[in-house]
Amino acid sequence: MALTDTVPAAAPPAHEGILRRQSLRESAARTYARSLPIVPVRARGLTIEGADGRRYLDCLSGAGTLALGHNHPVVLEAIRAVLDSGAPLHVLDLATPVKDAFTTELFATLPAELAESARVQFCGPAGTDAVEAAFKLVRTATGRDGLMAFSGAYHGMTADALAASGGAQRTGVVRLPYPYDYRCPFGVGGERGAELAARWTRSLLDDHKSGVPRPAGMILEPVQGEGGVIPAPDSWLRQMRELTASRQIPLIVDEVQTGVGRTGTFWAIERSGIVPDVLVLSKAIGGSLPLAVIVYREELDAWQPGAHAGTFRGNQLAMAAGAATLAYVRANGLAERAGELGGRMLARLEALAASHDCIGDVRGRGLMLGLELVDREADADATGARPADPRLAAAVQQACLDRGLIVELGGRHSAVVRLLPPLTITDEQADAILDRLADAVTAAVRTTPGPTGSSPTTLRGTTP
Ligand code: PMP
Repeated sequence: MALTDTVPAAAPPAHEGILRRQSLRESAARTYARSLPIVPVRARGLTIEGADGRRYLDCLSGAGTLALGHNHPVVLEAIRAVLDSGAPLHVLDLATPVKDAFTTELFATLPAELAESARVQFCGPAGTDAVEAAFKLVRTATGRDGLMAFSGAYHGMTADALAASGGAQRTGVVRLPYPYDYRCPFGVGGERGAELAARWTRSLLDDHKSGVPRPAGMILEPVQGEGGVIPAPDSWLRQMRELTASRQIPLIVDEVQTGVGRTGTFWAIERSGIVPDVLVLSKAIGGSLPLAVIVYREELDAWQPGAHAGTFRGNQLAMAAGAATLAYVRANGLAERAGELGGRMLARLEALAASHDCIGDVRGRGLMLGLELVDREADADATGARPADPRLAAAVQQACLDRGLIVELGGRHSAVVRLLPPLTITDEQADAILDRLADAVTAAVRTTPGPTGSSPTTLRGTTP
C-alpha cells in the first residue's frame, strides 16, 4: 500500500454515521475511540485504511499486539489452514495438534533454564487474565498473600491486576519505586537512582519493622509500557532477581507488551539475563487474536486440577496465528532488527528533542519508543524534570492523526507520545513515521499555548 494519504473532499456519510452511533451506544469507558475517531475498514502491515478513504501509519499496533503488522500473509495463511482443515475452533483446554505446535514453538523461544522445566497454563484470553493467574499461582505455591509491584506499573483491568497497577488505590499490594531515570524519585537518576530504588526494596524486605510481610510474589515489567516507556536498567533487574530468589519470593515478569521481539531481544528479560519464576504473556503471542498464557517453573505447580479454569482457553485460530508469528519473528531475526532500527529511530528522536524545548525526554528499547512532553516554560521540579504537559501531548496526537499517523499516549500524565510500530517496518516507513511525528510536534507547539497559558513556544535554534 502507498504511504501517501488520500484525503477525500468529504467523508462519506457511512463513516460519520458509524462514529455517531458508536458515541451514542457504547460505554463512556471507551478509550482509543475518543482520541482516534477513525473507522478502520482495511489494513495491511503498518497501514490502516479508514471508511473515509484516508490511510494511516499505525504505530499503535493494537496496543503493541501486532508484531507483524496487520494481516501479515503468514498469519492469514495459518488462520486459513485451521479453517480449511475442519478442526474444531472451540476445544476448552483439550489437546490439539494446533495447541501442541503452539506450545512447542513457544517453548523454543524461552530461556533454556526456564524451558527445561517449564509449565504453561492457558488462561482466559486477555493479558489481565494471565496476570490474575500468575498471582493465584504464586499465592497457592507460597501460602502467602501480599504482592509487591512498582510505581507506574500497568498489569490490566481486572481486580488484582488493577490493584498491582500504578493507578490503584487499594491495599494488599506493596508499592516499590521503579527506576525512572527522567523523574527519579530520589532526584539523581541513572544507575545511582536505580541503585537507590533497589536499596529501598531490599530494606523493606529485610527490616522486620518495615510493616511489609514477605509477599507471595513480586511483579514487574522489564520496560514499563503504559507507564510511559520506561526501560529498567539491567543491573536493577538483576538485583530484583537476586533479592527475590534469595528470599524465596517468586518473581513474575509481565512481558505482555515487551514480548516477541519488540524490545530488541525475543523476550525483554534476555538483555539482563534474568530468568523469572513466572512469565506472563499475551498480545503478540496470539498473532493479533486473543491469547494469554503464563509460563512458570514446575516447582510452582501446586495447583489442584481445575484450580484455574475458564471456557475460552482453547482459541485454535489464535494459537495457529500465534505459532506462525513466533516462528516468523524467530526465523527472520525480527528482534535484532527491532533493536537496530529502534536504536536509529531513538537517535532521530533525540535530535528532535534537541531542537524542541517541549520534549523533556526521549527513551525506549527496540521498537517501543516514547517522547515525554513537558511544560517548556516551567522550572524543573525536585526530580530534576519539568512538569508533564498532557495538553500538548494530546495536541501532538491529534496533529499526528491529521498527518495520517496513529500514535498512542501513555505515562503518568498521558504526556508520553508512544510509538509501537510493527517489527516488519522498512527503513523508509520508519523515516515516514518520524517525518510525520516531527512535523506534528512542530505544528502542535505552534498552536498550543503552554500550560501556564502563555503564548506558543519557541523552538530551540529556530524561529517559530
Ligand atoms: N500487562 C501489560 C504490561 C500490559 O501492557 C497490558 C495491556 N496494555 C496488560 C498487562 C493487560 O493486557 P490486556 O489489556 O490484554 O488485559
